[in-house]
Amino acid sequence: MTMFRRKDTGSAPSAEALRLVKVTRTYGSDGSAVTALDGVSLSLARGTFTAVMGPSGSGKSTLLQCAAGLDRPDSGIVRVDGTELTGVGEAALTRFRRGRVGFVFQQYNLLPTLTVAQNTILPLKLAGRRVDRKRARETLTAVGLGDRLGHRPDQLSGGQRQRVAIARALITEPRVIFADEPTGALDTRSAREVLRLLQEAVRVHGRTVVMVTHDPVAASYADAVVFLADGRLAGELRGPTVDAVAERLAHLGDDVTAGV
Ligand code: ADP
Ligand code: MG
Repeated sequence: MTMFRRKDTGSAPSAEALRLVKVTRTYGSDGSAVTALDGVSLSLARGTFTAVMGPSGSGKSTLLQCAAGLDRPDSGIVRVDGTELTGVGEAALTRFRRGRVGFVFQQYNLLPTLTVAQNTILPLKLAGRRVDRKRARETLTAVGLGDRLGHRPDQLSGGQRQRVAIARALITEPRVIFADEPTGALDTRSAREVLRLLQEAVRVHGRTVVMVTHDPVAASYADAVVFLADGRLAGELRGPTVDAVAERLAHLGDDVTAGV
């Protein structure tokens, strides 16, 4: 895509799914300004599953939104799959979001008047791409909803709704999937199904997943955890176990269960 600036930084862009360089995002102004992200630098390889953790208000959602092109940093560089988002215009950014990344939110964000199948293919329609109904059916079958194509969201459980959201995120075959607390509203079993699907997107399909979570069990599905505190990186844990994550969170010094 030629509308995006590409910068050669010496490392092969294709090996790197996400790079943030000194990303800063401040909300409000002057006296009431809140620095949500304070010079965050991060590099994630393609085909990895990373959890982002930290106390409520530490900047996790802001990090995800800046990384996904849903929000713009005040300064710093964001590069997704070799494409630098910093400095591109609004229309190009919208095209980028629609075509190159997928999103999963805590509250599913399905359109209530559309069926499961219609919700799933919506990103293809918005991106002006050919709507491949067979692939929509296959994608929904892969998330266990092949028999629910004509249902509406209010006829589904929370776990099923989130699986529709995952199918919707996968339908454009994005390189990077961003998920903000995708299991935050789910029971243990549904959460496990959602986490397995995200893991499968990485291990089987080579996608890159970046997932914000409060839950050490959810984080243990990832390959690595990055911790945030007060808008800054506060460590990293590779091959996270539930206990190791919980231990690390305890030492970040806040009650991580309070802000869900
Ligand atoms: P987290 O997801 O870790 O809970 P957020 O990224 O949502 O944290 O928020 C980080 C900080 O930025 C918090 O202090 C929050 O109040 C502030 N913040 C987030 N979004 C906005 C906004 N749209 N306007 C003003 N302040 C915001
Ligand atoms: Mg948040």
